[in-house]
Amino acid sequence: MSDVYSTICPGCNFGCGLYIRKNADLAVDFRKSSPANAGKLCRFGVSLPRFFAPVKSTLDGKKITLDNAAKEAAKRILASKDSVAFLSSGNTTCEELLAFQKIAESYLCTGVNFEALPKDTYQTISVGIPYSEIEAAKHIVLFIDPYEQYPLIVRRLLSAKSKGAKITAVWWKDLPLADENIRPNDTSKLTLTKDSLIIADFHPFSDMEQVKNVLSLAKNSGTKITFLKPFANSTGAYILSKDAKQKSLAQLVDDINKGTIKTLFALESDPSVLIPPETLSKLTNLIIQTGQAVPAKANIVIAHEPLYKKKGTLINNEGRMQALGGSGINGLYVLGTIVGAKFDFNELHESVKKAIGITEINEFTVPKYERPGYGAIQAAPKALEAKPVLIDVYNPFTWFNLADDNDFVELNLNTVRALKLLKGGTLKIKSNGNVVEKRFKVAPVQDNILLTGNRFGIEKGIITPVEISR
Ligand code: SF4
Repeated sequence: MSDVYSTICPGCNFGCGLYIRKNADLAVDFRKSSPANAGKLCRFGVSLPRFFAPVKSTLDGKKITLDNAAKEAAKRILASKDSVAFLSSGNTTCEELLAFQKIAESYLCTGVNFEALPKDTYQTISVGIPYSEIEAAKHIVLFIDPYEQYPLIVRRLLSAKSKGAKITAVWWKDLPLADENIRPNDTSKLTLTKDSLIIADFHPFSDMEQVKNVLSLAKNSGTKITFLKPFANSTGAYILSKDAKQKSLAQLVDDINKGTIKTLFALESDPSVLIPPETLSKLTNLIIQTGQAVPAKANIVIAHEPLYKKKGTLINNEGRMQALGGSGINGLYVLGTIVGAKFDFNELHESVKKAIGITEINEFTVPKYERPGYGAIQAAPKALEAKPVLIDVYNPFTWFNLADDNDFVELNLNTVRALKLLKGGTLKIKSNGNVVEKRFKVAPVQDNILLTGNRFGIEKGIITPVEISR
């Protein structure tokens, strides 16, 4: 006898619906009725049993009960007073995120840098447009690599193309589905009209000048723009915290380094993919509330049910509200223990619906969102110098530290010839005093660019200057 949960993939904010079947092991079943993905899943989605690795509550590495872990966390947070920060990039229900916001008033970090953007762009970045509008677009301009980063959008793009849409890719590599390929340094070659649609993305390591640049390109040409996001329910996290004062990830890292933040409480977000290890090691208390094992070494792990067993709602890139099929509310219980209160699921659920402006959850209808315009934006995107750089093309596997088969770099034939690289061989990549030796693939990539969907431990953000040799 198995338990079957109708749920949403936590791999990114695309919002793919699926079933998780639980016997002795977990298995994934396709849910064809899911409006976001019509049953299809990317390779991360089909690998979900790996993501949901079991986790136990611990205190300094020793097993304890959930209750005791939550109480100890509450004690340490209280003792830390003004030196505690709260981090959540989404990855959990709207109801938990609303409760989290109440306890995180003193220092809330959603992992992204809204501080660097004009307030009037907040809604445009937070909520995207329905995928059906992507399929109906006449000209689509991609500032992402859909195959690598948001694979389920590819079928929407192909559908638009089959109806006559032109696709322009503004990327470091020629993309097979694009009719026109423009390099990110050459956006002056881009022709945008009111019939165009820009697809960009927004995440903790976004280059904010580049985000401003795409907003400005859209503003100046009257082009529609939509942002995709890498964490499940990032849209919910941003909408629900739109009036909250938020700190950026850079600020959080800075404050930990300075010693003004000594305790970090992370809700369903693995700090080790966001914060450098040398910074994390400066914390007195790292407390992680989670539903699955994470690599970060925490002083306290408060382990409760995984996402597929939770009760509550998520919001995807389109703004579509999606209900999870579980009944677990231990996450709310823990958050209540932290703050010395009792959170009521139904009350929070009603508040979530009110914040979105709906009376019932229906995944087949995208709620109507206000899409206010925004003012003129000055952007100064930095052009890449003519030196080799390693570009980390993040994807669901990268964010969640899961082993993947992306352990290679892509580079073009000019670079291969210049370095006299041997077919089937490797190249050495040096940065920040570290050297890694990696396999390579020849691809139609811009000169001096190495693209990878993996992390090699030598990166400084998304774009890292490197030295390369045979
Ligand atoms: S990682 Fe994203 S695109 Fe892939 S199955 Fe999950 S939600 Fe869908």
